[in-house]
Amino acid sequence: MKWPWQKRTRKRTPRRNVPAPLLWEKLRKKGDPKWYPAYLRSQHWRRFRKQRIEQAGFRCSRCGYEDKNRDAKRGTRLHVHHVSYMRVGAEWNDDVVVLCVKCHKRAHGR
Ligand SMILES: [Zn+2]
Ligand SMILES: [Zn+2]
Repeated sequence: MKWPWQKRTRKRTPRRNVPAPLLWEKLRKKGDPKWYPAYLRSQHWRRFRKQRIEQAGFRCSRCGYEDKNRDAKRGTRLHVHHVSYMRVGAEWNDDVVVLCVKCHKRAHGR
């Protein structure tokens, strides 16, 4: 005997509702290392980055260096470093950390 809920088939998402893959997503799929710089230029990252720096109070989370450049046209010199690349494109707040240039270099072991 079949139960009514067993008959239900999974609905597939209509194709037209799927957003076109972004350039960096295409590059990443191809294994092109240029995907990361492309991602850093994406609107999502720029917005997320700005938000994280503001939340950090324009300070490096490691050494406490405060960026006084916050109002300058070119923007802040602080970097937003990925602690985890697991959720690139939809990062959680803990996936990134705000660092100054020095601490960022150190984070990458340079
Ligand atoms: Zn620092
Ligand atoms: Zn980094």
